Amino acid sequence: MPSLRALPALRDNYIWMLAEAASGCALVVDPGEAGPVLHALAEDGRTLSAILLTHHHGDHIGGTAELKAAYPDATIYAPHDDRIHLPATQVGNGDVIHIAAPAARFDVIEVHGHTRSHIAYHGEGLLFCGDTLFSLGCGRMFEGTPEQMLASLDRLAELPADTQICCGHEYTLANAGFAATVEPDNAALKSRTEDARAQRERGEPTLPARMADERAANPFLRIDAIADDRIPWPPEVEPSPRRVDRFAALRLAKDNFPA
Ligand code: ZN
Ligand code: FE
Repeated sequence: MPSLRALPALRDNYIWMLAEAASGCALVVDPGEAGPVLHALAEDGRTLSAILLTHHHGDHIGGTAELKAAYPDATIYAPHDDRIHLPATQVGNGDVIHIAAPAARFDVIEVHGHTRSHIAYHGEGLLFCGDTLFSLGCGRMFEGTPEQMLASLDRLAELPADTQICCGHEYTLANAGFAATVEPDNAALKSRTEDARAQRERGEPTLPARMADERAANPFLRIDAIADDRIPWPPEVEPSPRRVDRFAALRLAKDNFPA
């Protein structure tokens, strides 16, 4: 069984590392900087075999070139996006990645919304979803529409209940504050928030999150469950029964919510 680590990087990013003792190989997801990866590899005596990238933002790819220079045999996987200037194998919806060591198989899922080419990797019970789905929240829509982001989140929410969600940032407690304004009586949200607070106090990541818990507590996966009068409609917008309109109102309110 490969072991999973969340390496803190930059301000609040995580670089995910999946390592296998038998082969001595590791893969990483979204290395925004090289230092934490090089350090962890040295610490555990591992070789880097693959780098998986979810989207073109610097805080997710910034360390890739340096890692590739240190480990020239590492294969880079990236979305189809000409803003990523790296020697990468480009992958898109429906592609399957087979990695020999650590032995792993991932399905590529296009999850547009945060950016126009964002992808997620699902396999081995893990979901690497970059800045699309966060615990108790979702990514900002920099290049996508509410329709795209909602479709992406709906797609991810269908994954198995025990999927471990490996997000790109430690945003859980900040997200919990907004989520509590939307579903103040949600018991699953309260218990997840308490657990996350305790994890942060111990200096631990709040991730990976479990899909079942997110379905129960993340307002952006609960568009249909939120009470009508809790949707934070902007003053100039007529309340609407459409899911995408409810989602858009929620995402906009989160953009404006004090962090
Ligand atoms: Zn991003
Ligand atoms: Fe990011």
